[in-house]
Amino acid sequence: MICLRQVSKRYGATQALAPTDLEFEAGRTAVLIGSSGSGKSTLLRIILGLIEPDTGEVEFDGVRMQPENLLELRRRMGYVIQDGGLFPHLDARHNASLLAGYLGWDLARSEPRLRELCALTHFPEDALDRFPAQLSGGQRQRVSLMRALMLDPAVLLLDEPLGALDPMIRAELQTDLREIFRALGKTVVLVTHDIGEAAFFGDRVTLLNEGAILQDGPFSELLRAPADPFVTRFINAQRSVLENGA
Ligand code: ADP
Ligand code: MG
Repeated sequence: MICLRQVSKRYGATQALAPTDLEFEAGRTAVLIGSSGSGKSTLLRIILGLIEPDTGEVEFDGVRMQPENLLELRRRMGYVIQDGGLFPHLDARHNASLLAGYLGWDLARSEPRLRELCALTHFPEDALDRFPAQLSGGQRQRVSLMRALMLDPAVLLLDEPLGALDPMIRAELQTDLREIFRALGKTVVLVTHDIGEAAFFGDRVTLLNEGAILQDGPFSELLRAPADPFVTRFINAQRSVLENGA
């Protein structure tokens, strides 16, 4: 569904992403994991066409992304970021319907879709009139997810979507998200820095460090056959946090 060939990006002296080859299969959930600054967001934003890579190319559903077809292809991708990216002056209804609005959908078309999405994301319909400040963090992310799904995109890209939530809400939304991914059968790329979350979501996990892929495969392989000493260090660092906290 998505294919990166020798894609790289540099900011001054920082190699945000080394030349990278990567493919994402249709209908699967892939997880990108790595510490802060490892290039996860850069990779995702290149797929979205929000950042132009210095080298290489991205193919989306068999079509090479170019400035001419960027907007059209981007419409087939839903994007969710950590803080939701909702507009504070728009209520949940208008935040969720933003892209439909740009495309000129009328209420007769967007309202039924919105109700469908409320059911899917477990967002109460009677909260659609509320502004982001009047919603909980978990509800805000559900609105952000509705917005991303509004046009029924083939691909869903999520950049640490649960990172700003407290643990209880996070666990609840995690479970709901996984159910939604399974029900919709979309191609999903989810970014996280959390090992537990990677194991929870990923059919496949890609571990990045300093802009380079260290390992790419089933989560169990990361534990069983780490491809680099850093993989083990990364996993153990989070384990010891868990164990010390217990
Ligand atoms: P991650 O999402 O894994 O935390 P990023 O992809 O955001 O990492 O960043 C990778 C590296 O590129 C970091 O060192 C970051 O500081 C740098 N970087 C990202 N965006 C920019 C930018 N717009 N200008 C300069 N440096 C950037
Ligand atoms: Mg990031």
